[in-house]
Parts: sequence; structure tokens; C-alpha cells
Amino acid sequence: MSIQRLFFALELPAPLQQQLVQWRADHFAEGAGKPVAAANLHLTLAFLGDVSAETSQQLQQLASRIIQPGFSLDLDDAGHWPRPGVVWLGCQRAPRGLLQLASLLRAQAARHGCAQSAQPFHPHITLLRHATQKVALPPRGFHWQYDVSDFALFSSTFSQGRTRYRRLARWPLPSSSGA
Ligand code: ATP
Ligand code: MG
Repeated sequence: MSIQRLFFALELPAPLQQQLVQWRADHFAEGAGKPVAAANLHLTLAFLGDVSAETSQQLQQLASRIIQPGFSLDLDDAGHWPRPGVVWLGCQRAPRGLLQLASLLRAQAARHGCAQSAQPFHPHITLLRHATQKVALPPRGFHWQYDVSDFALFSSTFSQGRTRYRRLARWPLPSSSGA
């Protein structure tokens, strides 16, 4: 239990998860890929990989000291990465707060030995996996909006053919209006 596979991410409100699942069913062909379960829809900020309890504690300590206002997300973009077989939902223009938060968490992770991908961070919510064939994407014009008021650390386990995430800790991103 001392080594866990961890990642920092933004949760999606449960009603939005349900709405997205419905929208996905309406807009993507059934054979396009393997749908990610509603409860697993999330936006990864920093992937840590397999880390010790000590490193996890240190990174949680640093996360708890982050002082940053919340931000609003407008999910208005979708795309397909054929090589990893991912169909995703993202933003045409990612909010600065999101990029700052991810950049900080990724830098802290890297300093604690969690190798970070050399590829530029592209915030996204994976909708479909194993999507290696051509996929027809919904036309632009959709907007899924929500206010992000916290971020969290999750563990990821794979057993009995299923990936499960468990939230280990959560930290607030206060409303920028001060309300
Ligand atoms: P699976 O069990 O099929 O791998 P998963 O990819 O959702 O499911 P994890 O591999 O544990 O589960 O990944 C957790 C989160 O971290 C996901 O959002 C995943 O896309 C992301 N992730 C995984 N590996 C990396 C990586 N090397 N770099 C960046 N993000 C990653
Ligand atoms: Mg994975």
C-alpha cells in the first residue's frame, strides 16, 4: 500500500458528468471507441505515476499551500488523438488559472522525481479510449461550462478489468470575487 499510482486532477460535477455522457452518446458513433465511465470523467493536471507514501505526503503538503483563485472552464473543443486512441473534450482557449495550476503542480512533481511528459500540457477530458480509427467529431458550437473551485489528488487502481479512481485529498481554489 505504500506505493500508489497518483495524479492531480479537476473533478467534474456529477450532473455535468451525466450530461456529457448523454451528449457523447448522441454525438459519437457507437463503435468510435470505449466510453469512459461517467464517474471517471476528469481533467488531469499532473500525472505523478507510482509514488511512495513519503513523496505523496510531500506533494500534498505543497498542494495545500497553493493559493490561487478559482476559474471558469468553457469546454468548447473536441479532438481525436489517433495514436493513443483518445477522443477528448477541451477548451479552445484554456483559462490562465488552469494553466498556472497545472504548471505549478507539474513543476513540484518533477522536483520530487515524478517525470513529466516533454509534450506541452494540453488540458483535456478523455471521453473515449481505444479510438484508433477515424472518428467523426461533433461540430463546434457546443459549450460545457462550469466553475472550478477546487482541485484534488487521486489514486488510480486497475482491477477486475476496471480502472478506479479514489480521491485522497482536495484543496479549495477560492472564488475570485471573494464571495
Ligand atoms: P488505464 O487504467 O486504462 O490506464 P487511465 O489512463 O484513466 O486508465 P491512469 O493510467 O492511472 O488511468 O491515468 C490517470 C490519469 O493520468 C489519466 O487522466 C491519464 O490520462 C493520465 N496519465 C496517465 N499516464 C500519463 C502520463 N504518462 N502523462 C500524462 N498523463 C498521464
Ligand atoms: Mg492510462
